[in-house]
Amino acid sequence: MRKVLVLTEAKAGNLRGVSLEVLNAAHRIAEGGEIIAVAFGSEATHYAHILGKHGANKVYIVENNELNVYTTDAYLQAFRQVVDCLEPEAILMPHTAIGKDLAPRIAARFGLGLVSDITDVQVENGEVLFTQHIYSGKAFEKKKVVSGIPFATIRPNNIPVTEIKTTIEVNRFHANIKDLRTIVKEVVRKATGGVDLSEAKIVISGGRGVKSSDGFKPLQELAEVLGGAVGASRGACDAEYCDYSLQIGQTGKVVTPDLYIACGISGAIQHLAGMSNSKVIVAINKDPEAPIFQVADYGIVGDLFEVVPLLTEEFKKVLV
Ligand code: FAD
Repeated sequence: MRKVLVLTEAKAGNLRGVSLEVLNAAHRIAEGGEIIAVAFGSEATHYAHILGKHGANKVYIVENNELNVYTTDAYLQAFRQVVDCLEPEAILMPHTAIGKDLAPRIAARFGLGLVSDITDVQVENGEVLFTQHIYSGKAFEKKKVVSGIPFATIRPNNIPVTEIKTTIEVNRFHANIKDLRTIVKEVVRKATGGVDLSEAKIVISGGRGVKSSDGFKPLQELAEVLGGAVGASRGACDAEYCDYSLQIGQTGKVVTPDLYIACGISGAIQHLAGMSNSKVIVAINKDPEAPIFQVADYGIVGDLFEVVPLLTEEFKKVLV
């Protein structure tokens, strides 16, 4: 039995789906032990019951005005105090911008080993084994932490969400935060169409083949009908057809949606590193020799400006 501490995340007051995936991972390794969800900011009272429906036995709502906006300094101080107080036997965090920033710092402060960006977790012969993709997703290895307690960040969209009803105890934890080296003066949000790219179940991506920023419009329309998010290759970002926040790949975001539709993307290895583990891949490209077809489950050889609007019309008939 292990006491597992889980970092949960919310966006605009709503719990992020990846938090529930991390809770399920915690359930697997707790083996009947306690699962404690940590939520920052008082708005967590609104979604604490959801954490209880997905296996958390306790929620610690960590409060301090300095935690209303993420800063490395403040969250690090607060999370350290929670760890000191609760003495967990395993820690799991989402592999999000916050998790990626916080986890290595927590590992360094407590002298822990960290396995980052894992896609699966099991307990074998009493040992916690984390699955991590390597060589741009071409292979995977199973790793265990040998220095300290099991500690990992979990890639969104890989571990299923399951309902595990528990009786939940909600605690408030006041963090002492001082000597901040960074102060956030303003948060300017980019309009990205609503669905978070790294957690989206459906991603429609455009490459240099879209030819202009206007060329992304048919992709946005398809994404809207399907309830998906729009992504891009670096080729499209470099050509200034879209913002770099949409870039998928080795030096961009890693996504694992249920459906990935690549439009006018050649399929360079660096792009595949960010999407090849998608569950179903559809490629639309006018070049039948494009390497993207080697990883695609379904390939459409054709002009994306003809194919994408046709798909949108057909999906509208059944979905809207
Ligand atoms: P292209 O390779 O130019 O492909 C365009 C495709 O569009 C072609 O296959 C063409 O047939 C097709 N096309 C053209 N017109 C149409 C049409 N009307 N209808 C249908 N198809 C059409 N790339 C990434 O994506 N992500 C990364 O994170 C990344 N990191 C990198 C890191 C390093 C260190 C390096 C060196 C490179 C990286 N790259 C990355 C760049 C990568 O190598 C490729 O250059 C890039 O992915 C190419 O983008 P693309 O497929 O959009 O463009």
